[in-house]
Amino acid sequence: MSSHHHHHSHVDDDASSGRIALAFWLNATFALIEFVGGWLTNSTAIMADAVHDLGDALAIAFAWIMQKLSGRQADSRFSYGYRRFSLLAALVNGGILIIGSVWVLSMAIPRLMAPEMPHAQGMFWLAILGVAVNGFAALKVSKGKTLNEQLLNWHLLEDVLGWLAVLIISVVLLFADWPILDPLLSIVFTLFILSNVVRHVIKTLFLFLQAVPDRKLRQEIMDKLLEIEHIRAIHHLHLWSLDGEKHVLTAHLELDKPISTEVQTAIKGDIADTLSGYALAHTTFEFEQISENCRDIEHHH
Ligand SMILES: [Zn+2]
Ligand SMILES: [Zn+2]
Ligand SMILES: [Zn+2]
Ligand SMILES: [Zn+2]
Repeated sequence: MSSHHHHHSHVDDDASSGRIALAFWLNATFALIEFVGGWLTNSTAIMADAVHDLGDALAIAFAWIMQKLSGRQADSRFSYGYRRFSLLAALVNGGILIIGSVWVLSMAIPRLMAPEMPHAQGMFWLAILGVAVNGFAALKVSKGKTLNEQLLNWHLLEDVLGWLAVLIISVVLLFADWPILDPLLSIVFTLFILSNVVRHVIKTLFLFLQAVPDRKLRQEIMDKLLEIEHIRAIHHLHLWSLDGEKHVLTAHLELDKPISTEVQTAIKGDIADTLSGYALAHTTFEFEQISENCRDIEHHH
């Protein structure tokens, strides 16, 4: 039930690390190429994609570091272990993406009123490169089996679609004088990025604030614990989450009558059975006899 009983699998770790490292360098290099390419071709759509790829590279780097860090044992300074560091990484990542998105919007929105013609031929060749490189990365990563890699794979497919959009618009711009298409695409693309980022940042902030990760789950655990013999009532039931996956649970359990050590051991066995199906990293329970007063005065939950 706690981290000191936790085992970490190292099977396939090296191959997985290699694929993730490749995806990181592809995204980071590509973001750089796009920032320069977006500036040279005067295209805000490519700038929007550059911000997106920078975000991808950061997310991959953080996920990679977290994969290493979260396997680390808890110590006397971080007694809950290192899983919460992934929340910090998600916030930093989200902050960078929000700044980048606002920057792209501040370039693209004025261009709706006064469109500037981007260099369509340059956009076309960059888009060809983008489809090829991202398609290659998606193909490479699709061989991976870990959850991280599968998420990454869906993501890379999304990137290929983004580049196909740039490709189509660059072809249209080669034949038609519609420069407004470029800021339009970058605004749609950036709003899509922003909506995902904002949703993710809000979720992360709630986890930081130790909100109940899932109120239905809390009620379900409460109901199941109340079914155990001799547990009359429950208060101070606190459920919060280390990182959105592994939760922490503490509660005061009121007993219906004085019990022997044997019965107490049996109750703890029932609790262990009840909770075995949930992803709980740390659990702590306090037994309260009828004659006892609660140490923690405030009692509304
Ligand atoms: Zn333990
Ligand atoms: Zn992406
Ligand atoms: Zn409490
Ligand atoms: Zn109590």
